[in-house]
Amino acid sequence: MNKACSSLFLSFLTISENEEFGRFYCYDGHDEPSSSDSTQIIYRASDNRKGGTSPRIGTLLLKEQPNCFCVSEEQRSRICNYCFREKSEGMKLSRCKACKYSHYCSMECYNADQHLVECKALQKHPQVTNSMRLMLKCFLSCKTVEDVEKIENLSPKQSMKDIEDLKQLAILFCDYVKELDLSISLIGHRKTDVDYLYLLFQKIQRNTFSICNDEMNVIGSGLYVHTSLFNHSCVPNCTVLFDSKKNIYVRVINSNIKAGEPLTINYVDLLDVTPNRQHKLDKQYHFTCQCPRCTSTVNSEERNTHVESMLEMANDFKQKNQLQEAINCYSRVVSKKKSSPKLFHDIYLGIALNALAHNYVELGEFEKAYHYAVESLPLLEQYYPEFYPILGLQYLMCAKLGAHLEEEKHHQARTQTTSSFTPNISSQWFQKAFPIFSKLFIHEDNTPFDVLRRNQITF
Ligand SMILES: [Zn+2]
Ligand SMILES: [Zn+2]
Ligand SMILES: [Zn+2]
Repeated sequence: MNKACSSLFLSFLTISENEEFGRFYCYDGHDEPSSSDSTQIIYRASDNRKGGTSPRIGTLLLKEQPNCFCVSEEQRSRICNYCFREKSEGMKLSRCKACKYSHYCSMECYNADQHLVECKALQKHPQVTNSMRLMLKCFLSCKTVEDVEKIENLSPKQSMKDIEDLKQLAILFCDYVKELDLSISLIGHRKTDVDYLYLLFQKIQRNTFSICNDEMNVIGSGLYVHTSLFNHSCVPNCTVLFDSKKNIYVRVINSNIKAGEPLTINYVDLLDVTPNRQHKLDKQYHFTCQCPRCTSTVNSEERNTHVESMLEMANDFKQKNQLQEAINCYSRVVSKKKSSPKLFHDIYLGIALNALAHNYVELGEFEKAYHYAVESLPLLEQYYPEFYPILGLQYLMCAKLGAHLEEEKHHQARTQTTSSFTPNISSQWFQKAFPIFSKLFIHEDNTPFDVLRRNQITF
């Protein structure tokens, strides 16, 4: 592992080849005869520190910029394709006149994105997929020998068993770039080498992170070569967050990490049943998760395909902006569960309640939204770790909706000149949200933590 990467990690988390530097220790799985091909990051308490060995909640383990990135297809007209600033009042985005695809907030961003190369490809292939665009960005990012090494050192080092759709992607990519001048890239001469592209697509598929905004909505994807060294667990002890400059932050979310325990993040959504999580992990990352939740025999999380198709239908309506139809589907799931609680797993109820809350927010029906958001909390609390960004956001949503309802009740009381009692329903949720926000959302720039401050919410 090259020396340069150690500076990326904070002093106590160092990555090395079987050599201990600090309190954190990482070894390359390749050198261990019996291990898999993935690198593990292991926490090891230092000798000079007695007692409490676990790092504190919120401890920053790694901050990293993406090697290459691209904005999601769905978000491209509302986010600057280079700096990822979101369109807002006072911030205009200009669409590239040539490809009519990419949007930028300034000439600086347009130039910095080296858009000219991609622009030519986009003009011919406007229907291109996100992974194809990320691959081209990956090519363009390889300007020095170190850049190439970083990419080529990613796992898997050799092609895996046959992955048909990636092979197809490699062939499509040849067509996508065949007329482009990729001479600025040190791997540009391999742009039509299908075997090389196939392996590169496997590396990208395995090491790419979805970039999320403050509300945890996916706005793009990026390759983070060091963050991808963290292994997955469905009961993770760390989490990833992003700032608005696409930096990724890995923070500790469990205060009871034992010495020698691997530091883990989650690659897939935790609010899903075990067979589905395992399927996704196998398909994209090619391993079978052996975490405590996946191997638990106490609470088996069985799939229910009927409910899943109902949720899928709801999601399709949502995509088409048919909110009322989506709500009807989610409500059916909720009432089915209430009439026969054993029919399907609680997780599906959690998904439906959470979706109902968000849909009602969009419809401006805040009382209903509040009701469903609060009802979803016990389920989210069960499947997300205690200090988990999404859980923090859910508490914040309850708090904001609660504050809005209080305001309305106050207003009614004033206009009706009755002295009705307005219960303070929001503060309990703010009190739950605050520890998560103050420990996790603490990047230098605009974060939901500032949202709290801007709203002058004090505790
Ligand atoms: Zn910009
Ligand atoms: Zn263009
Ligand atoms: Zn698992």
